[in-house]
Amino acid sequence: MAKKALVIIQDGVGDRPIESLGARTPLEAAQTPNFDKLADTGICGLMDPLSPGIRVGTDVGMLALFGYNPLRVYCGRGPIEAAGVNLEMGKDDVAFRANFATVTDDGSIVSRRAARIREGTGALAEALDKMTLSDGTQVMFRAATEHRAVLVLRGERLSHMVTPSDPGPDMAGEKVLEIQASLPQSAAAQRTARLATEFSRKAREILQNHPINQERKRNGLLPANYVLLRGAGVRRPMRSLAERFNTRGACVAGESTVKGIAKMTGFAVISDPAFTANLDTDIMKKAQAALNALKDFDIVMLHLKGPDIASHDNDPAAKSRFLEQVDTACGYIMAKALAHDNVVFALTGDHSTPCEVGEHTADPVPVLISGNGVLRDNVKNYGEHACSSGGLGRLTGNQFLLSVLDLIDVTYRFGS
Ligand SMILES: [Zn+2]
Repeated sequence: MAKKALVIIQDGVGDRPIESLGARTPLEAAQTPNFDKLADTGICGLMDPLSPGIRVGTDVGMLALFGYNPLRVYCGRGPIEAAGVNLEMGKDDVAFRANFATVTDDGSIVSRRAARIREGTGALAEALDKMTLSDGTQVMFRAATEHRAVLVLRGERLSHMVTPSDPGPDMAGEKVLEIQASLPQSAAAQRTARLATEFSRKAREILQNHPINQERKRNGLLPANYVLLRGAGVRRPMRSLAERFNTRGACVAGESTVKGIAKMTGFAVISDPAFTANLDTDIMKKAQAALNALKDFDIVMLHLKGPDIASHDNDPAAKSRFLEQVDTACGYIMAKALAHDNVVFALTGDHSTPCEVGEHTADPVPVLISGNGVLRDNVKNYGEHACSSGGLGRLTGNQFLLSVLDLIDVTYRFGS
């Protein structure tokens, strides 16, 4: 019987010892009997998404976990987000990652995420979609998860070499940045900067007066009256995982960045409105979707955003609770899938997000692989400390995925 792999990716799972948890990490403090069972029967290690000491974003961490060298294929956040919302990019298009934000009349940022707006962004995006800019450049605009959105510019002589208007995290009170050509001698870059600025101004006028924002103000909520832009990029052709290895993959996810990477790498995307990419996501429904996908696909990625959300909110207790829920869901899949005895389980994350830092760091991520035919080491628990003495040692995200693919016999031999 053909072997299958289930890779559970817990976003931002890695952490540091926290005093209030008895100098344990949220993963170590959580009760995770199923993860521990996998650790006990499998092989563990620590993973650097790209290489030791390099902090990565979810996009880069996920590209590595999907088997790509981000240094070769990374094309900016914009095109990934565009793929995540099913926006087909032409070869001359430029895509931006966008945020709905709250900005004052003088350009000061009150909230970079419009207080994490979750309702009505579809209608706001529709109001900006299909705008035509002064030189005929076309605008495509789509809402993504929560406050996130995507802008694609379609026209002639565009360039992705432009700076962001978004000053970055924790910049409340800062001014919106002026979008400029990051390659000043490039006429295309200067032109694109002007067009992105024109879009931002027109978008602001439309959003200010939009009924959804009027209602938000009446209800005491911050209006989503501005679109912050960053991560400009162009489409870059990529060979799908199925072309590179004899394998078919599926990805169960709610977050549009992850869905975008899955699409770009040739994975089937399995999603549902109940997959919120937040702490309130329906974990058991995701587990069931992953279990179903194992029937039709060789490798199934199950992505959970919750741990990263709790970490950014500096909430280690919430992170532990979420990890416990994933452990329960993992136990459910183990009980059903192990009956066939042909599923290799892998636990990983796309990077570490320590709760006390509230941001991604370069701390390595605890990982494990367990299943029929997988070597065993002496590690008995899934946690940062325990995994540091595991048999996988220290490996990169790419090497981790290759190890999993090898265990399901879809890789090829180097040499004759
Ligand atoms: Zn992440």
